[in-house]
Amino acid sequence: MPITHKPVAYLYLYRQKRQDAPLHAISISVWQGNQRVLEVDPIHCAGMRNQKIQTYLTDVIKTLRERYGITKFEPEIRLEPTECPIKNCPLRPAEVMEGSEWTSDN
Ligand SMILES: [Zn+2]
Repeated sequence: MPITHKPVAYLYLYRQKRQDAPLHAISISVWQGNQRVLEVDPIHCAGMRNQKIQTYLTDVIKTLRERYGITKFEPEIRLEPTECPIKNCPLRPAEVMEGSEWTSDN
């Protein structure tokens, strides 16, 4: 008999280890066994109020419940901010410059 996995949602928090470290970014992905079935676009949290972040997470869970029957996130996984998956990231300003529209012509 094949093993069937229910889809589960993982919440990744990019923040430094110390207690009061600010949240740098959030990413969410849904896995079924060894397969990633959904990747929610990661977001930066700087400049967002806690309440806004909570609202965002509630919205995501609502969508996941409709699509996969998921009602809550698995225990959150902490990652270093330097592992931030967002391409345009303030922690990597050199990369952000690449391909941007800024020019020194004027
Ligand atoms: Zn970032």
